[in-house]
Amino acid sequence: MNLHEYQSKELFRSHGIPVPPGETAETAEQAVSLGDRFGYPVVVKAQVLIGGRGKAGGVKVVRDRESLEREASRILGMDIRGLAVRRVLVTPAAEIAREYYVGIVLDRRNECPLLMASPAGGIDIEEVARTTPEKILKIPLDLRGLPAYRARIAARFLDPDPAIQKQIVPILQKLVRVYRDRDASLAEINPLVVTSKGEVQALDAKVTIDDNALDRHPDLAKLRDLSAEDSGETQARESGLSYVKLDGSIGCVVNGAGLAMATMDLIQFHGGKPANFLDIGGSSNPDKVTAAMNILTADDRVRAVLFNIFGGITRCDDVARGLLTALDRLHTRIPIVIRLTGTNEREARDLLSGRGLTALSDMDEAVRAVIARAAEAA
Ligand code: GDP
Ligand code: MN
Repeated sequence: MNLHEYQSKELFRSHGIPVPPGETAETAEQAVSLGDRFGYPVVVKAQVLIGGRGKAGGVKVVRDRESLEREASRILGMDIRGLAVRRVLVTPAAEIAREYYVGIVLDRRNECPLLMASPAGGIDIEEVARTTPEKILKIPLDLRGLPAYRARIAARFLDPDPAIQKQIVPILQKLVRVYRDRDASLAEINPLVVTSKGEVQALDAKVTIDDNALDRHPDLAKLRDLSAEDSGETQARESGLSYVKLDGSIGCVVNGAGLAMATMDLIQFHGGKPANFLDIGGSSNPDKVTAAMNILTADDRVRAVLFNIFGGITRCDDVARGLLTALDRLHTRIPIVIRLTGTNEREARDLLSGRGLTALSDMDEAVRAVIARAAEAA
C-alpha cells in the first residue's frame, strides 16, 4: 500500500524525522486559507499515488495569494498519468541550499533492506543510478538497524559540513526504524534538504507498506485511500484476484503465477504487449472469472483478452461457466481468445461451443491469435 506524501510525512514526524509543517486542502479556497495562515511563499503539491508529480507540473512554489488560488485550482483539476488529483498539500516554502536523496528499498537479490544515499538529490534516482552510479552509496541493513558509525559514513558521503552531518545521522537511523517497525517495503526522502538556515528536513516523503503486514498496523491500514488507487486494483483485491497492471493492450486471465509469467513471456516473444495479468488462482470460482472480466473490460487500453487456463484444481468447465456468465452480464465486444487444457476440458469446450466460442489447446497458437485480434482492434 502506497501512502500519500502527507501521510508519509505524518509518519516521519511521529518518528522524530524533521519535516516542514503542512496541511491538505481539497478546494482552492481551502488552499488559500492555509497559505494565508502559513504566510507566503508556500508550495502547493498534488497528492497522488504516483511518482513524477514535479515533472508533470503537480508541484509549484507560489509567492502570493492570487498565484496560490490559480495554481491550487489548476492542480486540483489535473490528471497525473490517469489519476485525478483530489487533494493538495500546502506547505511553507523552504529556502533550499542543497538537495540529497536517501531511501531504503528492499534488495531482493541480496535478500535484505538497502539504504541508499546520494548527494545528487531532488531528481530521479533511477537516472542517477544509470548515469553516475558512483554518486550512490549503498549500505545493506539487517534487523538491528543502522549502527551510528555506518550512519556517519553515509552522512559524510552526503555533506562535507560536520554540523549538517550531525543532523543527518539521526534522520537516517530513524528512517531505518520507520522502515523496520512499520513493515515498509520503501521509505524514501527525495529531496532531503539543507535549508539556507542550515536545517536538514525531509521535503518529500514516500512510504510503501507491505500489504501482508497491514493486519499488524491498523493505524496504517486505515490510511488506505481507495479513491486515489487504480479502481482495477481495488476491485481485484476485493475479489481475491492478484492483478498486475502493465503497459500494453492484451488483457490476460490465467490461473497461477507461473503460468502468468510464461504467458507474459510468450506474448512478448511473439511481439505483443500485455496490458496486465489477472491471476484467478487455483480455485474454480465462476465469480472470480466474472470479476476478472469486469476489470478487464473497464480498462479501455485492453484491445483483446486471452484466457490461458491450465486445469488442475481449477476446473476448466467452471472457468467456462464464469466466462459465459460474465459475457451475459457485460455485453462486451472485446475479442476473446481462450486456451484451456486439463481437468474437465471437454465439458468446457462443449459449454463454450454451445455459445459459438472456440477454445484452443495450444498456448503458442492462442498467443499468436490474441496478438492478431488486438492488432485488428487497435
Ligand atoms: P516530486 O517531483 O513528486 O518528487 O515532488 P518533490 O516534493 O520532490 O518536489 C520536487 C521539487 O520541487 C524539489 O526537488 C524541489 O526542487 C522543489 N520544491 C519542493 N518543495 C519546495 C520548497 O519548499 N521550496 C523550494 N524552493 N522548492 C521546493
Ligand atoms: Mn520528490
